[in-house]
Amino acid sequence: MQDQFEPLPLIRIVLVATSHPGNIGAVARAMKNMGLHDLVLVNPNQFPSYEASARASGAADILDQARVVSTLAEALADCHQVIGASARLRKVAWPQLSSREVGEFAVRAADVGRVALVFGREDSGLTNEELDQCDKLGHIASNPTYSSLNLAAAVQVFAYECRMACGAVVPQSEGYRYQPATHADMEGFYVHLEQALLQVNYLDPNKHERFMRRMRRLFNRAQPDSKEIAILRGMLTAVIKASNPQ
Ligand code: SAH
Repeated sequence: MQDQFEPLPLIRIVLVATSHPGNIGAVARAMKNMGLHDLVLVNPNQFPSYEASARASGAADILDQARVVSTLAEALADCHQVIGASARLRKVAWPQLSSREVGEFAVRAADVGRVALVFGREDSGLTNEELDQCDKLGHIASNPTYSSLNLAAAVQVFAYECRMACGAVVPQSEGYRYQPATHADMEGFYVHLEQALLQVNYLDPNKHERFMRRMRRLFNRAQPDSKEIAILRGMLTAVIKASNPQ
């Protein structure tokens, strides 16, 4: 059995200089719905507030645990990856990810340490100086002539993508988790597979290129780890041995 991999507690939502307390409450609700609970507020206009609590509905615990800090640097100090959410595609060279890619990236990165998703002001977003503190930018595909979502709606989309990515991303770095198979591991496996299938007369020796290409696509899509490749090769060795007893 694999270790429990719980990335969501390691994904932090950071709101920079939020003007409307109602949005903070709606963000708390969006987070709790998706299983996130680490909220940090950088210089909120008003917090705590009745309006935030009212909009949080059953997510008051997220607001109670929220941390208020005075600089973005403070909010990000213990994070090893930072993604800035931007309503506009920027011309400058930050690597840009779709919201789906952000979910996958954040979940994978949470296997190593804490990850922050940073959201800007309702009226003007994040400044370039704030974006400088981000490793990557995340953008939710939207109408190019009306691309700015409500703050809590934007948090909702990213939080949902993180949740969806949890089942899909294979953690790779800890404990008895195995390294992903290398290109050389995969090539060795394909030679072995071909050899075994020829030996049991499954393959036509003169005509199996397309079949092998198909197998490559299949196994590359599965992204096996080194242990799984070792198991598969063990099976192939047994097949070859059984069909050639001497
Ligand atoms: N008017 C601002 C956007 C403010 S919306 C601007 O043009 O930058 C508040 C925050 O929600 C943004 O700073 C961003 O963090 C997030 N957001 C809104 N729409 C988004 C989108 N399409 N993609 C990614 N983040 C978005």
